[in-house]
Amino acid sequence: MDKSSLIGLDREALRLALAAAGVPEKSAKMRATQVWNWVYVHGARDFAAMTNLARDFRGLLDANFTLARPEVVTAQVSEDGTRKWLMRTGPGIEFETVYIPEADRGTLCVSSQVGCTLNCRFCHTGTQKLVRNLNPDEILGQLLVAKDALDDWPSTAPGRSVTNIVMMGMGEPLYNFDNVKAALAIVMDGDAIALSKRRVTLSTAGVVPMIARAGNEIGSSLAISLHAVTDDIRDVIVPINKKYPLAELIEACRTYPGASNARRITFEYVMLKGVNDSLADARALVKLVAGIPAKINLIPFNAWPGAPYECSDWSQIEKFAEIVNKAGYASPVRTPRGRDIMAACGQLKSESVKERASARQAREAVEQVQSAQLQRMPH
Ligand code: SAH
Repeated sequence: MDKSSLIGLDREALRLALAAAGVPEKSAKMRATQVWNWVYVHGARDFAAMTNLARDFRGLLDANFTLARPEVVTAQVSEDGTRKWLMRTGPGIEFETVYIPEADRGTLCVSSQVGCTLNCRFCHTGTQKLVRNLNPDEILGQLLVAKDALDDWPSTAPGRSVTNIVMMGMGEPLYNFDNVKAALAIVMDGDAIALSKRRVTLSTAGVVPMIARAGNEIGSSLAISLHAVTDDIRDVIVPINKKYPLAELIEACRTYPGASNARRITFEYVMLKGVNDSLADARALVKLVAGIPAKINLIPFNAWPGAPYECSDWSQIEKFAEIVNKAGYASPVRTPRGRDIMAACGQLKSESVKERASARQAREAVEQVQSAQLQRMPH
């Protein structure tokens, strides 16, 4: 039998898993708390590291469970210090994660899906079909791999490297709601990764019916990939707009639970030359978000092979930003990071493709034979 991963289970599921493996009911809760602390505060990668736990208990854990991380296929470092990992958890299940160090913070950009269904015209991930949603252990696994590589344990120590998480990697997090919610609950748990909800941001292209739920059930900060101020243009560059047009999106933001002047909604706006970057667009943008506690983030377009757009000229970005600044939104232009390793916004993509059912069945049959052979081998 395959060992199952304990990563990503909530406390109750962890307790039940331990009980099912033979931990006595009356101590299961206490045991779950101990394991939780080792895994998420101290970053234990195997049960042998849990030195204050009885040897028998560690043996039981080891016989039944794993704390395995995703496999790192490649790890790259940009000339500006940005890091990117390509990770893998199974045949064709490959996804990217980016770490962006800045003077006052370190942000980890995490993927929620392999590929994406949204097809935003300026986004590299949008050219990759959806392979599948990532599971909670795969979403959290990205953070664990990064923290291992950055030597960023224990989670509660001052001066951590990973201070912020943004769900801005591959995929649409609100189309993988339950798994993202499970992973972020552990990220924001004070006895686990312990990042405050202001330091965790979920970005959506505008899955309107899920926005209020995200506020109520996840409670992180919210970013909206706005990118256009009219339905005509947004229909083309962010096609989900045809389903949930601007008026509905803005209304969902207006009523987002938990938004306040202290916790503003971020509106992301990619600068595409001649498409959405006129000064009239800038004026319409500040009008559109008026009355919402908002931050505006202008993102210079990051090119990728075959991209159908160009980045706006710098002088145009400056004029656009000036209008936004004058309306009361401070320094809104996002500095591109990690462009040389294709780690900047919208540049992520993996080679993964959806395996055909017939190919998967054949592979699984071979794997079963192989694992049966391995089990018969003398240890
Ligand atoms: N699906 C979610 C999460 C992806 S976040 C969302 O759309 O919000 C990635 C952010 O980078 C989004 O704001 C996206 O619109 C933006 N982006 C995509 N491609 C880009 C590119 N080539 N240059 C700059 N930003 C881009």
